[in-house]
Amino acid sequence: MNNHLSDGQGREINYLRVSVTDRCNLRCAYCMPPSGVELYPKCDILQYRELLTIIESFAELGVKKIRVTGGEPLVRKGVVGFIQQVSEIVGIQEIAITTNGIQLHKMAGELKNAGVSKVNISLDTLIPERFKTITGFDGFNQTMHSIHSAISSGFESVKINMVVIDGVNDDEIEDFVRLSVDMPVQVRFIEFMPATPQVWDESKLVPMDKVKEKVERIGKLVVCGRSRWGGPAEIYRLEGAKGEIGFISAVTRHFCSDCNRLRVNSKGKLLTCLFGSDDLDLKELVQSGADKEKIKKAIQTVVLGKNDIRTMIANGDSTRGEAMSCVGG
Ligand code: SAM
Ligand code: SF4
Repeated sequence: MNNHLSDGQGREINYLRVSVTDRCNLRCAYCMPPSGVELYPKCDILQYRELLTIIESFAELGVKKIRVTGGEPLVRKGVVGFIQQVSEIVGIQEIAITTNGIQLHKMAGELKNAGVSKVNISLDTLIPERFKTITGFDGFNQTMHSIHSAISSGFESVKINMVVIDGVNDDEIEDFVRLSVDMPVQVRFIEFMPATPQVWDESKLVPMDKVKEKVERIGKLVVCGRSRWGGPAEIYRLEGAKGEIGFISAVTRHFCSDCNRLRVNSKGKLLTCLFGSDDLDLKELVQSGADKEKIKKAIQTVVLGKNDIRTMIANGDSTRGEAMSCVGG
C-alpha cells in the first residue's frame, strides 16, 4: 500500500489531531456548557495502545504530523510516555500539543524530551479576574508561567491561542498584539466557532477582518511565511516585534480547499471535517482485532469522501453537536 493519503478533492492529508481525553481541568464558557458536558465513560476512551496502533496506521499512509489535544491532554495520566512512543513511530516527523497551560510549566522539559517540538497554549485574556470568569478557575498565573517555561524550554514554536468573543475579550486585542511584540511567541486570533450547541451564539462571533483592522491600527503588518505543514493561519509580524500574529478565520473565510487534517476524538471516532459528522469508528475496528492493513483501507475509503463546511451548511446544521472538548479544536 502506498504511503500517500489524499481525498477525493486531491487534498494531501498529512496531519492528524488526536484528542487523548475529553476531561479538562478548566470549564471555558465558550467550550463547555455551564450545565456541564456529559463526559464519556472511562471505558469509552481509547487506550494508549489502541491509539498507537491507529497512529501507526496513519503514519504508514503518509501522516507526518501529530497534534495531541483534548480536553486537556496534560490531565491524562501517562501522556508523556505516550508521546515518547508516538515519536518512535516511523514516518512521524513532528509532534505538537495544544494545552490550556495550567500544568505545562511542570512538564515542559519532559514533553520536549519526549519529542514535542511545538506548543500551543490557550489564553483568552490577560486580566486575571477575567481568566477566572471565562474558565471557572483562578489560573492566570499558572498559564502565564507555562508560557514562560515553554519559551525557556526551547520548543521550536510557542503559540498563544486567543478565541475572540464579542463583549467578552475583544477589548484586549491590542494587549495581545503587544505580547507578540515583547515575546517570541505567535499570538493567534481565532474566530468563535459553532461547536458546543448549548454555548454557540452567532452574535458573539467577531469576524477576523474586524480583528485585523484593529491590529493594523497599531502598526504595519509584515507578511511572514506559512508553516511547514500549511495550516489555516494568515501569519504576520509587526515591524520590530519578537513574535508573530496569526489570524484564523474558520467561520467567515473557511479554508477548506487547503485543509490537510483529520481528527480522532477521544472515543476513537475519525472526523474528516471539524464541522462534519463522525466518519469512522476506529475504536471498534481496533477492538474487533482488525489488522493495520484493514484499518488503513477503512481510513482511505472515508478520507476519499472528506467533506467540508459546505456540507454542514447544506445540511442546515448550525453546530457540530458535540463539545469542542471532545473533539480537540
Ligand atoms: N484544553 C486544551 C486547550 O484549551 O488548549 C486543548 C483542547 S481545546 C478544545 C483546543 C482549542 O479549541 C483551544 O485553543 C480552545 O480555545 C479552542 N476552542 C474551544 N472551543 C472553541 C470554539 N467554540 N471556537 C473556537 N475555538 C474553540
Ligand atoms: Fe478545557 Fe480547552 Fe475546552 Fe477550555 S477550551 S474547557 S481548556 S478543553
